[in-house]
Amino acid sequence: MSFVVAIDGPAGTGKGTVTKLIAKEMGFVNIDTGAMYRCIALECLKEGIQNIEEKAKIIEIAKKIDIKIEHNNEQQEFFLNGENVSTQIRSKEVTQIVSQISSIPEVREIMVNLQRQMAESKDVIMEGRDITTVVFPNADVKIYLDADVEERAKRRFKENEEKGIKMSYKETLEAVKQRDYNDMHKPVGALKIAEDAIVIDTTRLTIEEVVQAVKKVIKK
Ligand code: C5P
Repeated sequence: MSFVVAIDGPAGTGKGTVTKLIAKEMGFVNIDTGAMYRCIALECLKEGIQNIEEKAKIIEIAKKIDIKIEHNNEQQEFFLNGENVSTQIRSKEVTQIVSQISSIPEVREIMVNLQRQMAESKDVIMEGRDITTVVFPNADVKIYLDADVEERAKRRFKENEEKGIKMSYKETLEAVKQRDYNDMHKPVGALKIAEDAIVIDTTRLTIEEVVQAVKKVIKK
Protein backbone atom coordinates (compact mmCIF):
# COMPACT_ATOMS: atom_id res chain seq x y z
CA MET A 1 0.00 0.00 0.00
CA SER A 2 1.28 3.42 -0.85
CA PHE A 3 1.36 6.34 1.61
CA VAL A 4 -1.18 9.06 0.89
CA VAL A 5 -1.13 12.65 2.11
CA ALA A 6 -4.46 14.29 1.24
CA ILE A 7 -4.82 18.07 1.27
CA ASP A 8 -8.01 20.04 0.64
CA GLY A 9 -8.97 23.68 0.87
CA PRO A 10 -10.40 26.59 -1.10
CA ALA A 11 -8.59 28.46 -3.89
CA GLY A 12 -5.64 30.59 -2.81
CA THR A 13 -4.64 28.80 0.38
CA GLY A 14 -1.24 27.87 -1.04
CA LYS A 15 -2.02 24.18 -1.59
CA GLY A 16 -0.19 24.00 -4.91
CA THR A 17 3.03 25.67 -3.77
CA VAL A 18 3.09 23.87 -0.44
CA THR A 19 2.52 20.38 -1.88
CA LYS A 20 5.21 20.96 -4.50
CA LEU A 21 7.79 21.88 -1.85
CA ILE A 22 6.83 19.03 0.47
CA ALA A 23 6.89 16.50 -2.36
CA LYS A 24 10.45 17.55 -3.15
CA GLU A 25 11.63 17.53 0.45
CA MET A 26 9.93 14.32 1.53
CA GLY A 27 10.01 12.30 -1.68
CA PHE A 28 6.31 12.17 -2.61
CA VAL A 29 4.78 12.42 -6.05
CA ASN A 30 2.57 15.51 -6.01
CA ILE A 31 -0.73 15.54 -7.82
CA ASP A 32 -2.78 18.68 -8.46
CA THR A 33 -6.32 17.40 -9.02
CA GLY A 34 -7.66 20.88 -9.78
CA ALA A 35 -5.49 20.86 -12.90
CA MET A 36 -7.20 17.64 -14.01
CA TYR A 37 -10.62 19.33 -13.85
CA ARG A 38 -9.08 22.32 -15.60
CA CYS A 39 -8.02 20.02 -18.48
CA ILE A 40 -11.64 18.96 -18.97
CA ALA A 41 -12.79 22.59 -18.83
CA LEU A 42 -10.17 23.53 -21.45
CA GLU A 43 -11.24 20.71 -23.74
CA CYS A 44 -14.88 21.86 -23.39
CA LEU A 45 -13.86 25.38 -24.44
CA LYS A 46 -11.90 23.95 -27.37
CA GLU A 47 -14.98 21.97 -28.43
CA GLY A 48 -17.03 25.16 -28.32
CA ILE A 49 -19.17 24.13 -25.36
CA GLN A 50 -20.52 27.36 -23.92
CA ASN A 51 -23.13 26.07 -21.60
CA ILE A 52 -23.08 23.74 -18.63
CA GLU A 53 -26.48 22.48 -19.85
CA GLU A 54 -24.62 20.58 -22.57
CA LYS A 55 -24.02 17.94 -19.92
CA ALA A 56 -24.06 14.86 -22.16
CA LYS A 57 -21.31 16.35 -24.36
CA ILE A 58 -19.21 17.28 -21.31
CA ILE A 59 -19.49 13.74 -19.91
CA GLU A 60 -18.43 12.33 -23.30
CA ILE A 61 -15.36 14.59 -23.22
CA ALA A 62 -14.49 13.41 -19.69
CA LYS A 63 -14.82 9.76 -20.77
CA LYS A 64 -12.54 10.15 -23.79
CA ILE A 65 -10.02 12.63 -22.43
CA ASP A 66 -6.41 11.56 -22.05
CA ILE A 67 -4.76 13.43 -19.15
CA LYS A 68 -1.13 12.76 -18.34
CA ILE A 69 1.01 14.36 -15.66
CA GLU A 70 4.77 14.53 -16.08
CA HIS A 71 7.07 15.65 -13.30
CA ASN A 72 10.00 17.68 -14.68
CA ASN A 73 12.37 19.50 -12.33
CA GLU A 74 9.71 19.57 -9.59
CA GLN A 75 7.17 21.10 -12.00
CA GLN A 76 4.00 19.24 -12.85
CA GLU A 77 3.33 19.40 -16.58
CA PHE A 78 -0.15 18.57 -17.81
CA PHE A 79 -0.73 16.89 -21.16
CA LEU A 80 -4.19 16.92 -22.65
CA ASN A 81 -4.54 14.43 -25.51
CA GLY A 82 -0.77 14.67 -25.98
CA GLU A 83 -0.49 18.48 -25.90
CA ASN A 84 1.27 20.32 -23.06
CA VAL A 85 -1.48 22.59 -21.68
CA SER A 86 0.16 23.56 -18.38
CA THR A 87 -0.19 27.28 -19.13
CA GLN A 88 -3.51 27.22 -20.97
CA ILE A 89 -5.35 25.54 -18.09
CA ARG A 90 -4.64 28.58 -15.86
CA SER A 91 -6.44 31.04 -18.18
CA LYS A 92 -9.27 33.26 -16.95
CA GLU A 93 -11.72 31.49 -19.29
CA VAL A 94 -10.91 28.06 -17.84
CA THR A 95 -11.05 29.40 -14.27
CA GLN A 96 -14.49 30.84 -14.96
CA ILE A 97 -16.09 27.53 -15.98
CA VAL A 98 -14.09 24.89 -14.10
CA SER A 99 -16.17 24.73 -10.94
CA GLN A 100 -19.36 24.27 -12.97
CA ILE A 101 -17.80 21.56 -15.12
CA SER A 102 -16.50 19.78 -12.02
CA SER A 103 -19.92 19.87 -10.39
CA ILE A 104 -21.21 17.20 -12.80
CA PRO A 105 -21.24 13.94 -10.77
CA GLU A 106 -20.34 11.73 -13.77
CA VAL A 107 -17.29 13.90 -14.51
CA ARG A 108 -16.21 13.59 -10.87
CA GLU A 109 -16.59 9.83 -10.88
CA ILE A 110 -14.22 9.51 -13.84
CA MET A 111 -11.64 11.84 -12.25
CA VAL A 112 -11.86 10.21 -8.80
CA ASN A 113 -11.12 6.78 -10.34
CA LEU A 114 -8.16 8.22 -12.20
CA GLN A 115 -6.85 9.88 -9.03
CA ARG A 116 -7.09 6.62 -7.08
CA GLN A 117 -5.20 4.79 -9.84
CA MET A 118 -2.45 7.39 -9.70
CA ALA A 119 -1.76 6.54 -6.07
CA GLU A 120 -1.80 2.76 -6.48
CA SER A 121 1.91 2.26 -6.75
CA LYS A 122 3.40 5.55 -5.54
CA ASP A 123 3.50 7.55 -2.31
CA VAL A 124 1.59 10.69 -3.14
CA ILE A 125 0.68 14.09 -1.81
CA MET A 126 -2.58 14.95 -3.54
CA GLU A 127 -4.40 18.27 -3.29
CA GLY A 128 -7.88 19.37 -4.27
CA ARG A 129 -11.34 19.82 -2.79
CA ASP A 130 -12.58 16.28 -2.07
CA ILE A 131 -9.35 14.35 -1.53
CA THR A 132 -9.79 13.96 2.24
CA THR A 133 -13.52 13.24 1.99
CA VAL A 134 -14.16 11.26 -1.21
CA VAL A 135 -11.00 10.23 -3.04
CA PHE A 136 -9.04 9.05 0.02
CA PRO A 137 -11.23 9.15 3.13
CA ASN A 138 -8.72 6.74 4.73
CA ALA A 139 -5.60 8.68 3.73
CA ASP A 140 -2.62 8.37 6.08
CA VAL A 141 -2.60 12.15 6.58
CA LYS A 142 -5.54 14.53 6.08
CA ILE A 143 -5.07 18.28 6.08
CA TYR A 144 -7.42 21.19 5.35
CA LEU A 145 -5.71 24.47 4.45
CA ASP A 146 -7.78 27.58 4.99
CA ALA A 147 -7.36 31.39 4.85
CA ASP A 148 -9.50 34.56 4.87
CA VAL A 149 -11.11 35.23 1.53
CA GLU A 150 -9.53 38.71 1.16
CA GLU A 151 -6.07 37.29 1.76
CA ARG A 152 -6.69 34.51 -0.76
CA ALA A 153 -7.90 37.02 -3.35
CA LYS A 154 -4.77 39.15 -2.74
CA ARG A 155 -2.55 36.12 -3.37
CA ARG A 156 -4.47 35.20 -6.53
CA PHE A 157 -4.31 38.80 -7.77
CA LYS A 158 -0.53 38.84 -7.32
CA GLU A 159 -0.14 35.46 -9.05
CA ASN A 160 -2.28 36.64 -11.97
CA GLU A 161 -0.20 39.79 -12.31
CA GLU A 162 2.97 37.71 -12.44
CA LYS A 163 1.44 35.48 -15.10
CA GLY A 164 0.21 38.46 -17.12
CA ILE A 165 -3.46 37.60 -16.52
CA LYS A 166 -5.37 40.89 -16.48
CA MET A 167 -7.97 40.97 -13.72
CA SER A 168 -8.58 43.74 -11.16
CA TYR A 169 -8.43 42.96 -7.42
CA LYS A 170 -12.19 43.47 -7.16
CA GLU A 171 -12.84 41.08 -10.04
CA THR A 172 -10.46 38.54 -8.49
CA LEU A 173 -12.18 38.78 -5.10
CA GLU A 174 -15.60 38.26 -6.69
CA ALA A 175 -14.30 35.32 -8.73
CA VAL A 176 -12.78 33.70 -5.62
CA LYS A 177 -16.04 34.16 -3.68
CA GLN A 178 -18.09 32.72 -6.53
CA ARG A 179 -15.76 29.72 -6.84
CA ASP A 180 -15.91 29.14 -3.06
CA TYR A 181 -19.68 29.15 -3.23
CA ASN A 182 -19.77 26.77 -6.20
CA ASP A 183 -17.17 24.45 -4.67
CA MET A 184 -19.00 24.28 -1.34
CA HIS A 185 -22.43 23.62 -2.87
CA LYS A 186 -21.70 20.78 -5.28
CA PRO A 187 -24.12 17.86 -5.11
CA VAL A 188 -21.15 15.46 -5.05
CA GLY A 189 -17.58 16.17 -3.91
CA ALA A 190 -18.38 19.51 -2.26
CA LEU A 191 -15.54 21.23 -0.43
CA LYS A 192 -15.88 20.55 3.28
CA ILE A 193 -13.66 19.85 6.26
CA ALA A 194 -13.32 16.12 6.96
CA GLU A 195 -14.07 15.33 10.60
CA ASP A 196 -10.58 13.95 11.19
CA ALA A 197 -8.65 16.50 9.12
CA ILE A 198 -6.09 18.81 10.72
CA VAL A 199 -7.03 22.41 9.86
CA ILE A 200 -4.23 24.91 9.24
CA ASP A 201 -5.16 28.59 8.84
CA THR A 202 -2.58 30.10 6.49
CA THR A 203 -3.87 33.71 6.57
CA ARG A 204 -0.91 35.06 8.52
CA LEU A 205 1.65 32.40 7.62
CA THR A 206 4.40 32.51 5.03
CA ILE A 207 4.71 29.61 2.58
CA GLU A 208 7.72 28.34 4.54
CA GLU A 209 5.71 28.40 7.77
CA VAL A 210 2.88 26.45 6.13
CA VAL A 211 5.39 23.91 4.77
CA GLN A 212 6.83 23.45 8.26
CA ALA A 213 3.37 23.05 9.81
CA VAL A 214 2.30 20.46 7.22
CA LYS A 215 5.60 18.56 7.54
CA LYS A 216 5.13 18.41 11.28
CA VAL A 217 1.71 16.79 10.83
CA ILE A 218 3.06 14.27 8.28
CA LYS A 219 6.02 13.30 10.50
CA LYS A 220 3.75 12.79 13.47
O1 C5P B 1 -7.24 23.87 -7.39
P1 C5P B 1 -7.80 24.70 -8.52
O2 C5P B 1 -8.22 26.06 -8.09
O3 C5P B 1 -6.93 24.72 -9.72
O4 C5P B 1 -9.12 23.90 -8.94
C1 C5P B 1 -9.95 24.34 -9.97
C2 C5P B 1 -11.38 23.89 -9.72
O5 C5P B 1 -11.48 22.49 -9.88
C3 C5P B 1 -11.93 24.17 -8.33
O6 C5P B 1 -12.47 25.46 -8.21
C4 C5P B 1 -12.97 23.10 -8.16
O7 C5P B 1 -14.20 23.52 -8.72
C5 C5P B 1 -12.46 21.96 -9.01
N1 C5P B 1 -11.88 20.89 -8.21
C6 C5P B 1 -12.73 19.92 -7.71
N2 C5P B 1 -12.23 18.86 -7.03
C7 C5P B 1 -10.92 18.76 -6.80
C8 C5P B 1 -10.04 19.76 -7.26
C9 C5P B 1 -10.56 20.84 -7.94
O8 C5P B 1 -13.94 20.01 -7.91
N3 C5P B 1 -10.46 17.68 -6.15
